[in-house]
Amino acid sequence: MKNKPDKADFLAKCSVCGKSLDPDDIVILSEKEQKTTMHVTCAKCRSAAIVFLLNNQLGVMSVGMATDLDSEEVASKFGGEAINSDEILDLYQFVDGEGGDIMRLIKNGKN
Ligand SMILES: [Zn+2]
Repeated sequence: MKNKPDKADFLAKCSVCGKSLDPDDIVILSEKEQKTTMHVTCAKCRSAAIVFLLNNQLGVMSVGMATDLDSEEVASKFGGEAINSDEILDLYQFVDGEGGDIMRLIKNGKN
């Protein structure tokens, strides 16, 4: 077992109430080579946040930003359609080689 990066913990649970986030709570807004932007909504307290996932030589880093917008509103601001959760598997494969525990969490949650 390798060490889990602390940076990944943001996505593992709601930053407001501490509930674990499910894959269904996550909507991917855009996906680029080094950066993925997603919207997460807590099923318990309905807190929403935009998360930027950056992939660089240091590993995977996530930066969260609270928002009042729901995922559709954010998606429209990004000028694209929200990607369904199946796309998370692609993201998982993208991050997997970088030791992204976030995606391991998501994958486990889909079972
Ligand atoms: Zn919450």
